[in-house]
Order: sequence, then structure tokens, then C-alpha cells
Amino acid sequence: MKASAQTRRLVITIDGPAGAGKSTTARALATQLGYIYLDTGALYRAVAWKANTAGVDCSDTIAMKNLLQHMDLHVTLEDTTTRTLVDSQDVTPYLRTPEVTRIASTVAAMPEVREWLLPIQQRFGQTGGIVVEGRDMGTRVFPNADVKFFLQADLNTRTARRYQESRQAGHEDNQQQIRDQIQARDARDQSRNIAPLIPATDAVMIDSSSRSVEEVVATMLESISARL
Ligand code: C5P
Repeated sequence: MKASAQTRRLVITIDGPAGAGKSTTARALATQLGYIYLDTGALYRAVAWKANTAGVDCSDTIAMKNLLQHMDLHVTLEDTTTRTLVDSQDVTPYLRTPEVTRIASTVAAMPEVREWLLPIQQRFGQTGGIVVEGRDMGTRVFPNADVKFFLQADLNTRTARRYQESRQAGHEDNQQQIRDQIQARDARDQSRNIAPLIPATDAVMIDSSSRSVEEVVATMLESISARL
């Protein structure tokens, strides 16, 4: 279902917890529609990477404000990769380490960080034709999105997916560590005061636990086709 000149170029949001399958389905959906794809987690990870590299305590609000003032973040969308440049350095390969993953959900709870990243994300939605994924896409960043999805999966499934990814990336974590990290990260994302992880009231809820990527994408396309 490639978007043609006659079809509307929609803003489609996918929110959900870690390991629910957002990135895989968002990429597949964007490819099918001929849309661009934005992974907003990469932006929070870029802030975490910079804080970690600069040795800044990410719970120190003043230090973090100062860091943001001197941070140049440039994002380019190439096919289905969100390429992230911090102060002209391509940091994309360093963003998925366990350390950056842990720090990302801490910096994501800071209002200053969220406010700083808000216009950077919203700019990508201006012309439509985009699939965006994150935690607050449908609630805060794109409240007027054309179609919103909230993707979830049970904890065992999410742990197994993340464990496989971690092994493939050459990290040493065991399944229990990954399960604990996912639970801790979800708890931080769901309990923060600003833009917590919750479904938008008008989101289509999808459980991906026992469904293939193709099945999830097909379900999404059914909801989207009515809006094109
Ligand atoms: O999606 P990903 O796992 O890469 O996100 C890393 C962290 O960034 C999440 O745990 C969450 O704390 C934060 N995040 C967020 N809002 C978004 C995207 C990511 O708070 N829109």
C-alpha cells in the first residue's frame, strides 16, 4: 500500500513499553507506506550518551541544562535508520549499549530534556508521511496524529526479544538482568510526572505477544486504510 499522489500523507504514532516490537513494526509499516520513520528513543539516548561521555550526573538539573545549552543534535532519516549526530559526531552506533539504555530513561524523566526535544521531534511531522515511535507520541508530541497505536506484549515475550537482540549485539547480560532492566525502565517511564507512558485515549491497542510482525502490520494497515 504505497502512498500515491492522491492519498493523504498521514502522521502515524506508535507508543508502547520496551520490547513491545515498536521499532520493527514501525519500520515495516513505513516501508509499506513509502513513509519516513523516526525513532524518538534515539534522541533521548543521544542526550544520555552525551551526559555519560561528558561525565555529567544526569540527576543534576543544572548540569543537564548546561549540557543541553551546549549540545548540537542533528537527526537525519535515511530509509529506516534514525541517524543521530551529536556535536557533528555520528553517535548512532553507541546508542544501544546497556549503560546508555539505563541512563536514557532517567534523563527522559527531566522536564528540561523533554521540552528541549519537543520541537526537534515535531518538526518531522510537519509535512506528514511519517511513522513515529516512542512513549508519548500520541499523547504529547503529536496529539493530533491521524492514526495512533499503542503496542504492548507480555513481559516474558519482551524479555525474550530483548535478550536475543542483546546477544546479537555481543552484550553479556543474562535473561534475568534484562527482565529486571525492562521492569525498572517501564516503571520509570510509567511513573514520571511529565509525559508518562500511557496510551492516548484514541489509540488503537494491539498486543503483539503471540503475533508475527506481518500480522501486526496487517492489523495496523486496516486501521490506516480508512484514513487515506
Ligand atoms: O525506545 P527506546 O528504548 O530507544 O527509548 C529509550 C528511553 O527513552 C525509554 O526508556 C524512555 O525512557 C525514553 N523515551 C521517552 N519518550 C520517547 C522515546 C523514548 O521517554 N518518546
